[in-house]
Amino acid sequence: MIGIVVVSHSAKLAEAAVSLALAMVPSGHPRVLVAAGAGVERDGSAIIGTDATVVAAAIDELSDTDGVLVLMDLGSAVLSAELALEFVTATVPVTLSAAPFVEGLLAATVRAAGGASLAEVAAEAESALTAKRGQLAPAEPVSAAGQPAAGPAAPAAPRRARRLVLRNRLGLHARPAALLASENGVGAAEVQVRLERTGAVASAVSPTALMGLGSRGGDAVEVSAAGSQADEVLDRIEALVESGFGELDEPASPSAAPAPTGRELAQPIGVSPGRAAGPVVHLAPALDAPVEAPALPSDQRALAAERLEGAASTVSTRLAERAESSEGAARDILAATALMATDPGLIDAATAAVRDRGTEPARAVWDAAGALIDLLAGVGGRTAERVADVRDVRDRIVAELSGRSVPGVPERAEPFVLIARDLAPADTATLDPASCVALVTEEGGPTSHTAIIARSLGIPAVVAARGALAIAEGTTVLVDGETGRVTVDPSAAELAALAMAPDVSAFTGHGATADGHPVALMANVGSGEEAQAAARGGAEGIGLLRTEFLFLGRAEAPSVDEQVAAYRGVMAAFPGRKVVVRTLDAGADKPLPFVTLEGEENPALGVRGLRTARRHPDILDAQLTAIAEAAAAETARVQVMAPMVATVEEAAAFVELCHRKGIATAGVMIETPAAAVSAPELLAAVDFASLGTNDLTQYTMAADRVVGELAELNDPWQPAVLRLIGTVGAAGATTRTPVGVCGEAGADPLLAVVLVGLGVSSLSMAVRALPRVAQRLGTVTLDECRRAAEEAVAASSPAEARARARAALGG
Ligand code: PEP
Ligand code: MG
Repeated sequence: MIGIVVVSHSAKLAEAAVSLALAMVPSGHPRVLVAAGAGVERDGSAIIGTDATVVAAAIDELSDTDGVLVLMDLGSAVLSAELALEFVTATVPVTLSAAPFVEGLLAATVRAAGGASLAEVAAEAESALTAKRGQLAPAEPVSAAGQPAAGPAAPAAPRRARRLVLRNRLGLHARPAALLASENGVGAAEVQVRLERTGAVASAVSPTALMGLGSRGGDAVEVSAAGSQADEVLDRIEALVESGFGELDEPASPSAAPAPTGRELAQPIGVSPGRAAGPVVHLAPALDAPVEAPALPSDQRALAAERLEGAASTVSTRLAERAESSEGAARDILAATALMATDPGLIDAATAAVRDRGTEPARAVWDAAGALIDLLAGVGGRTAERVADVRDVRDRIVAELSGRSVPGVPERAEPFVLIARDLAPADTATLDPASCVALVTEEGGPTSHTAIIARSLGIPAVVAARGALAIAEGTTVLVDGETGRVTVDPSAAELAALAMAPDVSAFTGHGATADGHPVALMANVGSGEEAQAAARGGAEGIGLLRTEFLFLGRAEAPSVDEQVAAYRGVMAAFPGRKVVVRTLDAGADKPLPFVTLEGEENPALGVRGLRTARRHPDILDAQLTAIAEAAAAETARVQVMAPMVATVEEAAAFVELCHRKGIATAGVMIETPAAAVSAPELLAAVDFASLGTNDLTQYTMAADRVVGELAELNDPWQPAVLRLIGTVGAAGATTRTPVGVCGEAGADPLLAVVLVGLGVSSLSMAVRALPRVAQRLGTVTLDECRRAAEEAVAASSPAEARARARAALGG
C-alpha cells in the first residue's frame, strides 16, 4: 500500500483534513503522515509555516510503503516539499501532487486503501475536483484584462496573469529583480514572469533568474500568480512595474570621453566628476578557483551542504548589516547583493552539486557562480554589468568556507588611486574618500555600481579604461572623472595645475560670498550617524533633520523617551550650533500605517506633513515634548519647523504650540505655492522659514516629483519657482525673518548663487555637496548674486535661466 504525506502550514488544518479522509475508510486505511508547521515559538505556540526537513523525515518514515504521495496546501508548502526531496534518504518512489488539498487527500486515501499503485492514486487525487466542477456552473478564471486566463489543463489553483510593460530603461536588472523577488507574497503566490519577446520564463523568487531573462525597458512581460492572494500580489507587482522600480528619473549616462591621446588610456568613460592624482594601488587579487577534490562520501554530503548554506547566510547577513549602516545608493546596492548571497539561482545549484555529486562546498559555489556569470554575460548590456556582483558574492562565500580573508580594497593610510578590473558593490560601498582619491576600472559602464557609488561618495571615477591594470602599483596617475582622462606619470606642470585648482574636496566650515556676506552652509540629515558625518564634513549646523527615520517601518509612534534619546544623538554632534528639527513629514512618498490614510486618491495633495496632526494631534504633541526635552539637555541651538504648511493660520498655530512647549524658535517650511504667495503675512507669524524646494517645485509645476517623465518640469530653475522663491526672499527682508533653503536646489552651486541673490540667508544640503557650493559662493559678491538672480527670474525657461545666471557671473 502507498503512504501519504500531508504538507500544510497549519498542523490543525492538516490533522482535521486527515481525520476527515480516514473517516472515509474506517478499516484498512493507508498510513497518512502530517508534516506541518515550522517549529514552535519560545512560548511553545506553533509557528505557521512549513519545513523541508520535517517533510523529508515524514517521507523517510514511509520508506517501507510502495510509494509516497505528497499533498501540499499553499505556495511555500510546495517549495518545502520540493526541497525535501533533496534531503530524503529513503529510496521509496515519491510523487508530489498538484491535487487540491482536501479533495485530493480524500480521493487519494480512498484509492490507496483499495490497494492502487502510486500512479493511480496520484491520478485519482489530481482529478478530485471533477465532481465538484460538474456540480457547479463552470466559471472560467478571467485575467485582469478581461480575457480568459490561459491556465493549465486542470488547475488546482487557477493562475491569474497580467501583461505589463517594463517602464524603466533597463528592465529587470539587479535592483528591480531584487525588489520584485522580495515583494510580499511572491513566493506564496508562485509568481512567474514570462518575457514576451523570447518566451523565457523565470520564477520571481529568484533575482538571478529574473535578471537572466535579459529584459529591457519597453519589453512586455506576462506576470502570473496563483492562490487566493494572486490578485493582491499582482496589484503590488503592477504598481512596482508602473513606478519603473523607482528608476524613471535615472540620470542620463555621462557622455563618452574624448578620444584618448598619448599616455592616456583607450576608451575610458568619466562617470564621477572631479580630478585627483595619486599612486596606484591595485585591488587585492580575487581568490583562485578551489581545487577539485575527490567526491565527498554520501554520509557527509548533507552536512557539507548545510555548511555551504550557513556560509551563504553569514555572508548575506553581513552584507545586510553593512547595508543598514550605509546610506543612499550604497545601501540599496548592498541590500541587493545580500539578497544575491542567498539567491536560490546560485545557492540551490551549489547545494545540489554537494548533495548529488559530493562536490566540495567551495568548489560547488565556484562552479554554480561560474554558470551564472556565463548566463549574465551572455545576456549582455546592463545585465552583464552584474557579473561583478556574482563574483563578489562567490568570493565572499568561498572565503567564508575556507577561512581565508576576503579580497577587496586594501587599507592604506596614504591617499591612493584604486585600479581594478571592476569593483564589487561591497568594495565600492566601503571605500573611504579620504584615502581613495580616485577610481579607475577596466570594466563597468556608466550604470555600474562603481559609477553609482563613486558619484554618491564624491570620488572621481573613470570606467572602461582598458589596460589600466597594466599600470604598476606605485605609479602616479592623474584621473579626470569628468572627461574620463587617465594620465599615467603626469608632468610636474600637470600636477602643479591640479594643486592650483580650487580645493572642492573639503569645506572650511564657513560659508560666505567673496565680499564676506555670510551664508550659513548646513547639512540635511536623517539620523545621529549622519549628523556626526555632517559635523566631520564641516557643516555649520543641521538645516534639516528629517525625523521620519524614527517612525518609518514601525507599527506605532516611538515613545517620548526613545525620541529624546534619538534627537539628543543628533544635537550632540553640533554643540552650540544650529539644529533645525522638522516635525514628522508622513504621507505621499513617506506613508506611515499608523498616521496616514490608506488609499488616498491623491496622497501628495492629501493628509500629509503638518496636516496629519489634524487626526493625530497626540503624535505632534509627543514629538514636540521630546524635542523640547532633548533641546534642554543639549547645548545645540534647536529650532523646530513644520512641513507642508499652506495657510497663515496653520503656521501661527504651529508656532504658538511650539512656544507653549518651551521651544523658543519655531518656523515652517515653504513647500506650497500658497505659503510662498502668502509669505508677507506668513513670515510675520513665524520665527524663520525654510524653503523646501523639492516640494515647492512639484506643487508649483503640478508635476509629481517622483515621475521621471516630468523631470524637466520638476526643475527648481523653472522661472515660476524662482519667482516664488523671490517673493519669499523679499518678504524675509521686509519682515526681518530668516529664510533658508533645505531642498536639493541648495546643492546646485550655480543655483545656490541665485538663491542667495533672491534673499536666502542659509543653505542646507547633503554634506557631500557643501565643498562645491562653498567654493562657488566664495567666487562671487553679493551684488553679483543679485544680478544673477534678476537674470534668472526674468528668463522664460530653466535653460535660459541657467544661461543668463552664468552670463551674469561672467560665463
Ligand atoms: C523639500 O521638499 O524640499 C524638502 C526638503 O523636504 P522633503 O524632500 O523631505 O520632502
Ligand atoms: Mg518636502
